[in-house]
Amino acid sequence: MAFYLPLPPMKLQKLYIETYGCQMNVVDSEVVVAILQQNNYQLTEDVNEADLVLVNTCSIRDNAEQRVRSRLREFKRLKQQNDGLTVGVIGCMAERLKEKLLEEETMVDLVVGPDAYRELPALLQEVESGQKGINTLLSLEETYEDIRPVRMDRNHVTSFVSIMRGCDNFCSYCVVPGTRGRERSRDPETILGEVSNLFEKGYREVTLLGQNVNSYEWDEKVQPVKFENLLERVAQIDPMLRVRFATSHPKDMSDNLLQMMAGYPNLCRAIHLPVQSGSSSVLSRMKRKYTREHYMDRIDAIRKILPGTSISTDVIAGFCGETEEEHLETLSLMEWAAYDLSYMFKYSERPETFAARKYEDDVSEKIKVRRLNEIIALQMKLSLESKQRDVGQTYEVLVEGTSKKSEEELYGRTSQNKVVVFPRGTFAPGDYVNVNIQSCTSATLIGITV
Ligand code: SAM
Ligand code: SF4
Repeated sequence: MAFYLPLPPMKLQKLYIETYGCQMNVVDSEVVVAILQQNNYQLTEDVNEADLVLVNTCSIRDNAEQRVRSRLREFKRLKQQNDGLTVGVIGCMAERLKEKLLEEETMVDLVVGPDAYRELPALLQEVESGQKGINTLLSLEETYEDIRPVRMDRNHVTSFVSIMRGCDNFCSYCVVPGTRGRERSRDPETILGEVSNLFEKGYREVTLLGQNVNSYEWDEKVQPVKFENLLERVAQIDPMLRVRFATSHPKDMSDNLLQMMAGYPNLCRAIHLPVQSGSSSVLSRMKRKYTREHYMDRIDAIRKILPGTSISTDVIAGFCGETEEEHLETLSLMEWAAYDLSYMFKYSERPETFAARKYEDDVSEKIKVRRLNEIIALQMKLSLESKQRDVGQTYEVLVEGTSKKSEEELYGRTSQNKVVVFPRGTFAPGDYVNVNIQSCTSATLIGITV
């Protein structure tokens, strides 16, 4: 019989991870930490003590990529002081640039796309043996459904849960279908299990995430599970659990979904419905698959079926060929919709998208900036008006934490996703508190508990 000496315990490696871009990337980083924690890595918040630095990247606009490039220059300096340090780029930039990233950023050891995170431990071994590690294969099935993300949120009250990956919409300006692959939905049982587990741990709000959540569909043999079926089952986990979702596509925002929501007060009264442009001709060039009229009809439906719901949006200024009249149509639609909140961007041409191949990026930088500024100024006014309408009203607020400005105050959100600041009293994160709104700024409601 052979006897083996036990191997000495391996020294724990320290992982530092930085996340850029959308909420989906936040969850992906949590999945990556879960995978690496099972492979001898421990999370650190101090980059200086890290053995492995991962940057989870975004490619949506050029400036998002430039931010990562400049951060990589800082990690290069760190690597010069510590040659045991491994630096990896993961996420959308890794997927878009592949080997090119290793050629352009020679200090990078590891390049891993969004569907290849399970391969990270094997790739790290390749790096250990002196090679570069790269895997940018996209998958038709991967949803990481069996992996419980290691939560990195700070409040332990609100969390994101990924319900699908990829996107099949191919909007002409957008890099996402190329970097995150085809749309696929996650097994509903694993979603329900993850959400129930979060609730048991004390979380009181989840946001179900996908690039286009209302096209979620899980093919059960008997009856397919559509988004509204999934959402209803999540709402039924507990009435004390608030549920949000993002992002909805206007072409798939059905009356059925809204009617189901009306029966569950814990399905938050806040809908993010990106419009991108208020002009049907621009929407057609963007390949958004809806018109200005269809979009307005969907907002009318939300207002009618779910009164009191806040509506937010995404807007792109200066898309290819956008005329002054088309820009004015965006402003008039924003005014009509009276958005509570908008995320506003200047069009940024992305390599290999339909728009980059077929259209000219012909709106000058100066005009793009001016149009974006007009959109931002209008939204500032709309946001202030939206908050002013709340003054005097009482809202149920889910407490998230201590206000940034004062230890004596807490902050939380209304179902409509508006931030409220109020005196601490004896309340704690995770509590529901009724707050009467006394005043506001364009970003925050200020109130007293009742
Ligand atoms: N899937 C979601 C949707 O369709 O609304 C959001 C996807 S994307 C991560 C978030 C936002 O970035 C988009 O809604 C759009 O406004 C903006 N965006 C995408 N591509 C862009 C580009 N090339 N230039 C400027 N903004 C862009
Ligand atoms: Fe991009 Fe359009 Fe898909 Fe949103 S729906 S991720 S904008 S392609």
